Amino acid sequence: MNVYEIRDQYPILNRKIEGKPLIYLDNAATSQTPRCVVETINDMYYNHKSNVHRGVHTISQEATNIMEATREKVRQFINAKSTSEIVFTRGTTEAINLVASSFGDSLYTGDEIVLTVMEHHSNIVPWQLLQRNKRLKIHVVPIDKNGDLDLNAYEDLFTENIRFVALTHVSNVLGTVNPVKKMVEIAHRYGVPVLIDGAQAAPHMKIDVQDIDADFYCFSSHKMYGPAGIGVLYGKEKQLSRMVPYQGGGEMIGNVTFEKTTFAELPFKFEAGTPDFVGIAAFGAAIDYINSLGIENIASHEQLLLDAATSQLMEIEGMRIFGTSATKEGVISFLVNDINSYDMGLLLDKLGIAVRTGHHCAQPLMKRLGVTGTVRASFALYNTLEEVTAFTQAVSRVAKMF
Ligand SMILES: *Cc1c(COP(=O)(O)O)cnc(C)c1O
Repeated sequence: MNVYEIRDQYPILNRKIEGKPLIYLDNAATSQTPRCVVETINDMYYNHKSNVHRGVHTISQEATNIMEATREKVRQFINAKSTSEIVFTRGTTEAINLVASSFGDSLYTGDEIVLTVMEHHSNIVPWQLLQRNKRLKIHVVPIDKNGDLDLNAYEDLFTENIRFVALTHVSNVLGTVNPVKKMVEIAHRYGVPVLIDGAQAAPHMKIDVQDIDADFYCFSSHKMYGPAGIGVLYGKEKQLSRMVPYQGGGEMIGNVTFEKTTFAELPFKFEAGTPDFVGIAAFGAAIDYINSLGIENIASHEQLLLDAATSQLMEIEGMRIFGTSATKEGVISFLVNDINSYDMGLLLDKLGIAVRTGHHCAQPLMKRLGVTGTVRASFALYNTLEEVTAFTQAVSRVAKMF
């Protein structure tokens, strides 16, 4: 993998910020988009724009074929059994809301569900909204000092009242890669289905939903070199087929009368309204792009950057790194002495370095860590070791200013 050639595909990486070359280390919030993906968007608008699925004319069929070809690419990417298990959504957030609403319809007052303390707000709030109507009890799996989930505490939670587990594959703050296969196996032993939030996993590692045996798996295109506004809900057919629709409208129906409406087959039952077929086509291009580079190559490059950044940051006096799991991805959260994360972020921006600061949509985790926010650097396939060094030197410089 030649990172320098790869960088040519990203015009934004040539930008200067405050006169300094941009060093973009906010990839866990969103990654940048290569030319081949942007060109697919243009090509769709210039040559193939037509509403999908109901048209007999040529362009409509082209648009439909491109959209459905992407569904097949997604199926292969995560090794799902069938394209009927791949539902397009606006992103991870909408995918989780869909499950909380539609699967949630089958839950009763008094039922209990399991989340973890490291969840993104997207995998907390939809369950709390459901909780208001159903008075569900939410259990929270704790972490240890390294940021690993306490699996004994997890297993101890299972009683006959537990109906659902929803947890993240990779923490967007700690970088911890959770042992999801094992956790699904434990839940299934008690007959409990599991949703996995894969927003931070899908861009960085090979996902095999059949191997994990997840009941639901969600991720977002914009964090994996694709456009914003597209995401995926994978659901096992046996789960999706017995769930009520999430939204009503066109595309999701079989036959409509004022007396009785039937619903479309999977996955269309969950795709009401005109989908973002342009974004879906571009997401397909992003998956081709990742496949052309090889996700294992991307992963090992990012691991190299993580290891270099970690050892360089550790040399800075007063450095605290949050998340030191042995299984960790290219995300580093840290604080130096009592320097506020926003102050650090602003000063790094003056040096051309884009990092994220604050609570990272994980306020319960911040509370657990005893902080209000952290500085977070996160890596993607186009970052270089030179950028890592410039970043850690900049952190060291800022630390000395206080
Ligand atoms: C980004 C993120 C989400 C939310 O994704 P959207 O694309 O904003 O819907 C959920 N979970 C995790 C772990 C994330 O990193």
